[in-house]
Amino acid sequence: MNLILLSPDDLTGDNRACISDPRRLGHLHNVHRSTPGDLLTVGIQGGAMGKARLTELTAERAYFTLETMDEPPPAPLPVHLVLALPRPRMLARTLEHVTALGVKDITLLHTKRVEKSYWQSPELRTEKIHQHLVLGLEQARDTQLPNVTLSKGFRPFLEEQLPSLLKQYRGLLAHPGMPHACPRDVKYPTLLLVGPEGGFIAWEVEQLLAAGCEGMHLGPRILRVETAVTALLSRLF
Ligand code: SAH
Repeated sequence: MNLILLSPDDLTGDNRACISDPRRLGHLHNVHRSTPGDLLTVGIQGGAMGKARLTELTAERAYFTLETMDEPPPAPLPVHLVLALPRPRMLARTLEHVTALGVKDITLLHTKRVEKSYWQSPELRTEKIHQHLVLGLEQARDTQLPNVTLSKGFRPFLEEQLPSLLKQYRGLLAHPGMPHACPRDVKYPTLLLVGPEGGFIAWEVEQLLAAGCEGMHLGPRILRVETAVTALLSRLF
């Protein structure tokens, strides 16, 4: 937790904040080993970042006075990530990583090789997704939560969502064996499509290419979804 992310509920008015959840309190006690008087890095969800003075710390609550709150959060990446829904634990880690890297738009997509049962996972509940996003923001020192949407049908995504997305973004389909290598240091808004653990099937690749996405590869090594996404984002931006 490199930043204490304050939600609207934590703000008590008058430049003061109070947190009472066991996770953040435990971190203050056991990792930061904070004591009253400490100046800590904080951010207001959706707003600015800065320093807050810890004024009181008990087993149940931590009280802060916000001091300098004038630092903007870091710039987001110009990317919309379309991720075939990975298995729940991989999803949790991937959401954290991509949030830490600055992705602000994420679509979780159904494809042929996504197991249908993954859509029933508790990891997909709004509160659970929110938790992983918050961990990513706290890790990276950011305050802007990503938007996560669920797209539970490949064909509706292809026919109803993709055409308008491709008007705003250049579509890049990450798929091993494509003729072109992943571009580097791009400046344009990018729609990045990443497949499930079993990959996209040939028909899906054909449809995505026909819709206007460009295929690209990351070299001969087949990477796990969480590694592939991290490698793709760092190479692209
Ligand atoms: N067995 C699958 C690989 C799945 S890896 C196959 O051979 O297609 C999961 C996803 O990570 C892939 O769908 C792709 O989007 C991305 N990925 C992993 N390694 C990659 C590479 N070397 N080049 C491009 N994309 C890669």
